[in-house]
Amino acid sequence: MTTAMPTITDVYRARRRISPLIAPTPLRPAFTLARKLGQDVYLKFETMLPTRAFKLRGALNCLIANRERSQVDGVITASTGNHGRAVAYAARHFQLPATVCLSELVPTNKRAALEALGATLDVGGKSQDEAMARCLDRARSDDLLYVSPFDDPLIIAGQGTIAVEILETLPDVVTLVVPLSGGGLVAGIAMVAKAMNPGVRIVAVSSERGPAMLASLLAGKPVEVPEEPSIADSLGGGIGLDNRWTLELIRRYVDEVRTVSDEQCAAAIRYGFETEGLVLEGAAAAGIATLLDAEQPALEGPVVAFVTGDNVDVQTFLSITAGDWRPTPRPSAVRSYPKRTVLHD
Ligand SMILES: *Cc1c(COP(=O)(O)O)cnc(C)c1O
Repeated sequence: MTTAMPTITDVYRARRRISPLIAPTPLRPAFTLARKLGQDVYLKFETMLPTRAFKLRGALNCLIANRERSQVDGVITASTGNHGRAVAYAARHFQLPATVCLSELVPTNKRAALEALGATLDVGGKSQDEAMARCLDRARSDDLLYVSPFDDPLIIAGQGTIAVEILETLPDVVTLVVPLSGGGLVAGIAMVAKAMNPGVRIVAVSSERGPAMLASLLAGKPVEVPEEPSIADSLGGGIGLDNRWTLELIRRYVDEVRTVSDEQCAAAIRYGFETEGLVLEGAAAAGIATLLDAEQPALEGPVVAFVTGDNVDVQTFLSITAGDWRPTPRPSAVRSYPKRTVLHD
């Protein structure tokens, strides 16, 4: 088992593995946002990848690296949607069977997309944690390669390739605003960005309805938070009580963590569509929601925000853009976390 933290060398290896299969994604200026904030703002379009979310980078790197070491007969994962699609796509590319374990909370549009990619679904339970437990059991009993959604050096290194692309095209970038759930994305990006330019500031953005990583950073160890339905469904789920990689990398390299509400994500989805013609899923809107949050300190530009995925349910999207969408009420007893937590000044 690997014990060393992933480094930028692992990220360059990942890039060599995946670049024959996926082209660099576009980095485009967002002029309306830039004008509003008085800073240069760029958007990184991970939605231009074949599965329309960044998770393909990590999944391909993990599968290819494992095939370099030994024979792989099939893969299995647990996912809120985008990671499952990425694993299904990667497996299909190498003509391997893929099984995806999901909780009942995963919306139907995401399930259909997995089936379209040829994956076999194993649906059950009320939480991502239950789906994960089932997945790990089956990986052992059926001898399948388990592909972690975030807590694996190969996944983190794969996601880190995004930051190499950004720093190569925009070397003077100052702030990266990155959505945060399990933390594979921001861990990889932050580790690479700090290695290539220590002056880059990394701001991670969690949903206030799924701040497991923030709660864990504050507790100094992996902890769970209650699962709540959220417009940012890709930001839900725990970080794993046996988290080995992402919590530590984030503690080292991420400068601050902010949280956004469902109302803010919905407003950002609407703003993104009206001003930049974007289709964003809730998780992908989190970064823009932070940029639009007038109560948060302004971020120094050039700023890069990430269009991480666009797998939003059509009815939800239409009701948000029509202005009649309302968030699911939250239980009043639920603990609230700070809107802004500075880890490094
Ligand atoms: C998975 C995902 C995230 C969060 O990535 P983590 O590596 O789990 O922190 C953000 N946006 C989208 C669209 C995702 O699918």
